[in-house]
Amino acid sequence: MPFFGAHMSISGGLELAFERISRAGGESLQIFSRNQRQWRAEPISDDEARRFTAAWRQWGNFPVAVHDSYLINLASTSRETAEKSIQALAAELERTARLGVPWLVMHPGSHLGAGVEAGLRTFKNNLDKVFQATPETNKVMILLETTAGQGTGLGADFNELAFIINESKWSERLGVCLDTCHIFAAGYDFRTPGEYRQTFTDFDQIIGLEKLKLFHLNDSKKELGSRVDRHEHIGRGKIGLPGFALLVNDPRFASHPMILETPKSEDPAEDRVNLTTLRNLLKS
Ligand code: FE
Ligand code: FE
Ligand code: ZN
Repeated sequence: MPFFGAHMSISGGLELAFERISRAGGESLQIFSRNQRQWRAEPISDDEARRFTAAWRQWGNFPVAVHDSYLINLASTSRETAEKSIQALAAELERTARLGVPWLVMHPGSHLGAGVEAGLRTFKNNLDKVFQATPETNKVMILLETTAGQGTGLGADFNELAFIINESKWSERLGVCLDTCHIFAAGYDFRTPGEYRQTFTDFDQIIGLEKLKLFHLNDSKKELGSRVDRHEHIGRGKIGLPGFALLVNDPRFASHPMILETPKSEDPAEDRVNLTTLRNLLKS
């Protein structure tokens, strides 16, 4: 069965995310490694890394991913923002490596009017600069997240992710994180067996299923193809339970992490409900 988990806060200390995910009953975890809304971020100290690893082991060594800061836009047309983004992503990779986490999830950024092709090229060139500058992070794979395609956001079409992966000099360091809300908003349906099969056949032919390492499981407040990214509790949105049932029972993804990013309060109650909903869809 897949590793069902959730994105958790690191407030009060990185290692506290493990306590939170374990209280919610999760078996996979995503975190930000620093405040996601600030450019400046301290490196991870030895002490922090030690506490993190100890708490990880105690929780059960389940899969963990780091998500990058929302400020980073490697496709930016502004030289200043692109430069800051390169520095910030290099620091993200370094922190992820220090924590011993194998995956850093990131968005392909926004082209801001330059056009899709130019944006993808800028993104790829800047991404390669980051890899070039951080050889010591070579155990970390960057997972490009499928996006809803809001505004000038890149990555809503599987072909765009394939372009980056194929053109990069570091293809082997690149994988994909599939967000169910995002692909649905981008126009990829998977609510019936036929549509499900078609969407994943497309993914396989365009990107390759072996590149798919992790899922974000979110229902969608908005319609298929709306290009608007609004997460909803599992089964309460426009995707609905049948689509999620197809995904969680797909034997190709039986040992993938599937991580919730659904709305929640301080309390783990909402995550618990969503995790139970997902587990109840499993046909053993
Ligand atoms: Fe994301
Ligand atoms: Fe996501
Ligand atoms: Zn989203």
